[in-house]
Amino acid sequence: MDNPLGMHIQVWSGGWSPEEVKPVAERVAEIGYKFLELPCRAPETLHVDALGKILQANGLFAVCGFVHSLETDVASTDPAVVAKGEALMMEALAKARDLGAKRVVGCWHGALAKYTEPRSETGRRNAANALRKAAERARELGMVICLEALNRYENNFMNTADELLAMIAEVGADNLYCHLDTFHMNIEEADPAAAIRAAGKRLGYFHVAENYRGYLGTGTVDFTRIFRALAETGYDGPISLEVFSSAVVNPQHSGRLAIWRRVWSDSDDMSRHAYTFLRSQMESARRARRA
Ligand code: MN
Repeated sequence: MDNPLGMHIQVWSGGWSPEEVKPVAERVAEIGYKFLELPCRAPETLHVDALGKILQANGLFAVCGFVHSLETDVASTDPAVVAKGEALMMEALAKARDLGAKRVVGCWHGALAKYTEPRSETGRRNAANALRKAAERARELGMVICLEALNRYENNFMNTADELLAMIAEVGADNLYCHLDTFHMNIEEADPAAAIRAAGKRLGYFHVAENYRGYLGTGTVDFTRIFRALAETGYDGPISLEVFSSAVVNPQHSGRLAIWRRVWSDSDDMSRHAYTFLRSQMESARRARRA
């Protein structure tokens, strides 16, 4: 395994202005990371020209993360909300392309929100239609969309790899992929390694975090089994660190993800530790395959 490693900007900074991103890009590139994950959910806030130059100067590529809010929820039953969601997706795709991103990831299929009722069949149909349009546009732009399975407290629609695969088959677009995340799988999957194998060649993006989003290897996530499963499926895509602490605050995002505790405090130390940990996991998984 020699997957490109990167991380979510919010490991370092609650915002993503060029001034905030520049020192982060310099430091993570120095450590050895290959990409930064920057949000395109509020396209007007993504200053693609300046950010593109910063990434390029540091040899980094961009991955763009996305989530809907309830106001743009494409799995809503309200046609006006769905239409707003579809328009936002198109805008976000264009911005991500302008930043040079080949891969957009996250919750394109609905809101990042604590729902209080199950999603409806109409909502599912609306989301499938929206995803079909977005995938078509993404294909024209030379991009793939990776749909993330979030846990039940953050989405009521797709919580597991099997649900993603069923939706991808229903939409029928070959540039739709699964985005799996060890934090969410820890809550929702009976066996995260089996979920990775089920996604197989449809796995397009991978988030790593401990069960409590602290230092990798200090919690209950079985990274050895997970990395062996990634190696078995031949996954060679990006692996992104997504650890959050109240040490780094984005008011909207921190609230929605319930980032209340200071589970770590030093972004630099966290990033260096994770880099060594992930390189070692990949190396061990590679050796286990050969053994
Ligand atoms: Mn994630």
